[in-house]
Order: sequence, then structure tokens, then C-alpha cells
Amino acid sequence: MSIPRVQLKPRRAAAFYARHPWVFAGAIAAIDGVPADGDEVDVVSHAGNFIARGLFNSQSKIRVRLYSWRPDQPLDADFFRQRLESAIRLRRDVLDYDRPGGACRLVFSEADGLSGMVVDRYDRWLAVQFTGLALALRREQICAALLELTGADGIMLRTEKGVGKLEGLKLEDGVYCGDWPQELLAVSDGDLRFLVNVAEGQKTGFYLDQRENRRAAARYARGRRVLDAFCYTGGFALHATRGGAVAVEGVDSSGPALELARRNAELNDVGSVEFVQADVFDHLAARVEASATYGMIVLDPPKFARARHAIPEALRGYRRLQSLALKLLEAEGILVVSCCSGLITMDMLEELLAQTAAAARRDVQMLERRGPAPDHPVAAACRETDYLKCLIARVG
Ligand code: SAH
Repeated sequence: MSIPRVQLKPRRAAAFYARHPWVFAGAIAAIDGVPADGDEVDVVSHAGNFIARGLFNSQSKIRVRLYSWRPDQPLDADFFRQRLESAIRLRRDVLDYDRPGGACRLVFSEADGLSGMVVDRYDRWLAVQFTGLALALRREQICAALLELTGADGIMLRTEKGVGKLEGLKLEDGVYCGDWPQELLAVSDGDLRFLVNVAEGQKTGFYLDQRENRRAAARYARGRRVLDAFCYTGGFALHATRGGAVAVEGVDSSGPALELARRNAELNDVGSVEFVQADVFDHLAARVEASATYGMIVLDPPKFARARHAIPEALRGYRRLQSLALKLLEAEGILVVSCCSGLITMDMLEELLAQTAAAARRDVQMLERRGPAPDHPVAAACRETDYLKCLIARVG
């Protein structure tokens, strides 16, 4: 049986020769054959030359997700198993992240040549998130391979909000296999332990991408009063206490996140940490009003810009946060600014900080320009995987 061919419009092939994995509907001229959703297709240039092989989804704007640039490569169970194995090898053998009792991202979608799925490991358990229909349809073979390759005890399926609609995905979230424990999982992160609610927490329960940035920030915490804004379950806050902070205040709007943050503080027997439920914008403004000051402030807000048209509004949000933080920072204080909107680049973030600092009449020295932990690699061919930025600066 021949594989259906997806023919591109003229002059639309360059991105795919350059190995970008998303073929949007608008780039397609014609389809030769009648692929069902999830089927293998060959993407060819307007002239009919093979470019890459992918999986088809008529319900998604990403009509084809590409996986192989070899014409003789079937996208079968063996192929996906090898991709999974390679992804796992990076975390296990190269990064030494895949340790007993720990947590890390094992598979990061496009960044691992597996567009449409994410796998996080929490101790002996896996959280699997399908973000594309074609791989979700292969979940049996993929989950079987994952169990075999990792020796994990079980798998929880999670679906990101909105993905169902974007991809035509109907997935039941919950335990996919294994005897999932009743109590929350506790995973180690350095010499700290964190409780993780894999079934209901944000993302798959923990912000694994900030792992190295939390450690990096903690190295500046000694002797300082620290404000961890958007603290979730206390990641930056607890690391700061280990780094020698004299007092730490965590702020988040989510009740369930703060409940875990407080339990995490107990679990690790850390000193002076207080968690406050509030809107960060309001809280910072109130602290300014009260003439409070801090030696270090961490700003790790959620994604403000989800689409291009939202960039100006998002920048206003980041600007407001930064200018409030600059009012609260002592002389020679440390500012940690994170941004997980892929549409906002490091350049934009630095430019914004330069502007807010100038407006506040303060000098800012950039100490570290950081990205995500390397278990969230950036695919050179797919810049969309480059989403997390973290700046550490000293404010004069
Ligand atoms: N720093 C955290 C991750 C932060 S994720 C860590 O290292 O684990 C962003 C957090 O912002 C989420 O916990 C979310 O509940 C919170 N949040 C979103 N909007 C908020 C707002 N306006 N005020 C306070 N918290 C908010």
C-alpha cells in the first residue's frame, strides 16, 4: 500500500528541508490519497520531491507532524521505541537526571523528535501528556515501550487544557496503568523533597524546567530576605532557605499550590518561610505601600503571551511586575526574572528590564542569562521549543 502524499504549495518547502516538524494546513497544496487521522504520510515539495515523513491529522491546524527525513523509514512501533530510548538516554546517561527518587522530564515533544508528547518521571511513576492526536492514537505501543524502557511502576495520563479541541483529542485523564499510590508522591530535588500531585497539579505536578534556575537563584540568597512571587509549591522559596536566606515569603493565588508549599516546608524542616495567598500584582503593590524591602525577589509568572497579538499586553504585565519589584529591592539586591512565554525572547526581556530600571533610576547588572534545565532541550530546528528564560541581575 503506498503512503499518501501531501504536496506543499510552491515556495513552502524550505522550513521542512530545515527540519521544522509542523506542516500547517495553509502550506498544503494537495493531498494524494485519503489518509485517516493518525496515518503516515509523505510530505513532498510542489515538484513532487520527498522531504519528510510524518503523521496526519485533519482536525489540527498542524495538519502533519514530521518525524523522519528518510524516505525509507517507516513510522512504526520500533521507530518510536528508538526515539523514546534516545530521549531517555539523554536524561539517564548524559545528564544523570534520571535518578531513583528523583524527577525529570524524559521526553519533551519536538525537542526529542517526538512532536506531540511529553513524559515526566516522578520517582517510579510516569506522567504522560499527549499534545498531538497521532501519538495519542498510538498510546498503547508508546506506553508499553515506556514501561519497558524505564521499569516504571505505572503511568498517569494528563491532558493540557485546550489541546483536546486543537487536536480533536478525546483522552480520559487518570491512571493509565499500575497501582498508583493513594498518597501524593514525594520526589527529591537536590537535598530537598517536594510533594507532587501528578493527577491534579499544574503541568504534570511540578515545574521541572526551573530546576537549575532554582539552584542558581539559591546561590545568591545567603543573608537575604527573599520574596518568591508566583511560588507554586515553593520551589524557589525552599531552595532559597537552603541557600541561607534569613526569611522567605512565597506568594501565589492558588490555594492547592500553597497547601502543598506549606507541607513541603514542613517536610524539609526549613526555617522562616511564610506563604501568602494573594494576587501577586496586588501583593507587591501592598508591600510597596507598606514600605517593605527585600534583598532578593523572584518573579516567575505564568505564560502571559499565548498568541502574537497578546505580546504588548504581556509586556505591560512583565513591566508592571518588574517596576514593583524594583521599588521593593534593597540596594544591591538580587532580581530573578523568569518568562515562559516563547513569544517573548531573551532580548525583549532584557530590553524591558533596561527600560524599567531606567524609569526607576536604578542600575542593573545582568549576572546570569539562563534557560531551562537540559532535560528540556531546545531543538535547533524548532525554535518554539526555546520558551523559558531566566535572568538573574543585581540592582544598584
Ligand atoms: N516558581 C514556581 C512555578 C510558578 S508557575 C516553581 O518553581 O515551581 C506560576 C504560578 O503563578 C502558578 O502557581 C499560578 O498559580 C500562579 N499565578 C498565576 N497568576 C497569578 C497571580 N496573578 N497572582 C498570584 N499567583 C498567580
